[in-house]
Amino acid sequence: MTLTLPFDNSYARLPDRFFVRQAPVPVAEPGLIAVNDRLAAELGLDASLLATPEGIAAFAGNATPAGAAPLAQAYAGHQFGGWVPQLGDGRAILLGEIVAPGGRRFDLQLKGSGQTPFSRRGDGRAWIGPVIREYIVSEAMAALGVPTTRALAAVTTGETVWRETALPGAVLARVAASHIRVGTFQYFAAREDTEALRLLTDHVIQRHYPGAEGPLALIEAVTAAQARLIAKWMSFGFIHGVMNTDNMAISGETIDYGPCAFMDAYHPGKVFSSIDQFGRYAYGNQPQIAVWNLAQFASCLLPLMGELEPAIEAATTAINRFGVIYQREWLRLFRAKIGLSTEEDGDAKLIEALLTLMAENEADFTRTFRGLVDGTAAAEFADPFAFEVWAEGWQARLAREADPEAVMRSANPAFIPRNHRVEEAIRAAVAGDFAPFHRLNAILAEPYGDQPEAIAYRDAPKPDEIVRRTFC
Ligand code: AMP
Ligand code: MG
Ligand code: MG
Repeated sequence: MTLTLPFDNSYARLPDRFFVRQAPVPVAEPGLIAVNDRLAAELGLDASLLATPEGIAAFAGNATPAGAAPLAQAYAGHQFGGWVPQLGDGRAILLGEIVAPGGRRFDLQLKGSGQTPFSRRGDGRAWIGPVIREYIVSEAMAALGVPTTRALAAVTTGETVWRETALPGAVLARVAASHIRVGTFQYFAAREDTEALRLLTDHVIQRHYPGAEGPLALIEAVTAAQARLIAKWMSFGFIHGVMNTDNMAISGETIDYGPCAFMDAYHPGKVFSSIDQFGRYAYGNQPQIAVWNLAQFASCLLPLMGELEPAIEAATTAINRFGVIYQREWLRLFRAKIGLSTEEDGDAKLIEALLTLMAENEADFTRTFRGLVDGTAAAEFADPFAFEVWAEGWQARLAREADPEAVMRSANPAFIPRNHRVEEAIRAAVAGDFAPFHRLNAILAEPYGDQPEAIAYRDAPKPDEIVRRTFC
């Protein structure tokens, strides 16, 4: 028996040059790591069917579910600012699109599913580390309320993957509103394939921004979605790590969890990615990089926008809205983080003063903000007195708020996927023990709760636990 899922594959109906039809490469011995029951329910899927041998075989790529139209998507991209005319799914397969109750459409993609024509020198595989990391972090992001791809299932392959050393292989099944990226547009723009750009634009508008009338409105909508997304990342201390144009989704979801990280100690210059040598994708650079990527996106659409000069002007105006929307969102989110639900002129200064002190005092980002609710924030500062001085002005401002505690509680998580906990889960998984992975997922599903039994998961890393580098 093969698994049957409610597929309707609109991307596979686009012309042949959008993709290469390609089935996943079967693995030696599929084994279940996890099926995401909650997500399955949201998608209208029966989780108990997904965890059967048929389901596991489908997630491992050993059996193609009925109705799937497996393919590898073509895309290009700027990697660290350098142009690469062809990237594409080199270790991923889009099985198809699932239409959930209510009509929402989701890509179901396998990551680590074997070589494709886009693999170049890569093996098309993933080891268990990145699979566990993406599962934990993407689900944590969803629980925090950040638009993101989701993890539907993870399986082991029974095969060895070589990454300097021998490691156990795994496959992640993830869902996304779509996997269409800035790089998908760039692929066709670079080939001067205006017809494909038009088809892709229509496809994306219909799928993600049904209200948008034409390419300029699409640029505006994507700009707004990205501005809101990046503001959310910033409000949780999240660093994506590889904001290449091929890793920026048109839908406005966070995609492609590689060497990402949630900061422990706050500093705007923080970089974790082992491949980000010059800090291009540092925490504080993320808004500017998003704008740079959006400019690449907009330039792809110019051929569809009529006369060049006015098109450039309109596109530039559209992208410049990023700053306005981002600032507004950032201020709204950080106001909530310090307990403010009303607006006063001095609020931005008050927030910035706190962040400056946090950077100077190596204060833990998550613990400081949550500590504002719990009254423990001062202890996060090398010089607690510096915080107390700031807090006097803050308390004066809070006196004009109705229920700042409730506001802060729902804006400041107690639990984030701390790097040392993620690494701990990965180390155990490599040794065949998935208990820490499951425990961490369960805790991160309720990030705003107090969960007294999980208090150790709120701790910052001890000096010997600090993770300074994350890897793809
Ligand atoms: P990423 O860094 O995950 O955004 O991937 C950048 C490009 O490299 C994409 O085209 C991927 O499909 C490709 N790629 C990354 N890892 C592998 C691998 N192990 N095998 C084949 N292609 C890969
Ligand atoms: Mg093709
Ligand atoms: Mg990528």
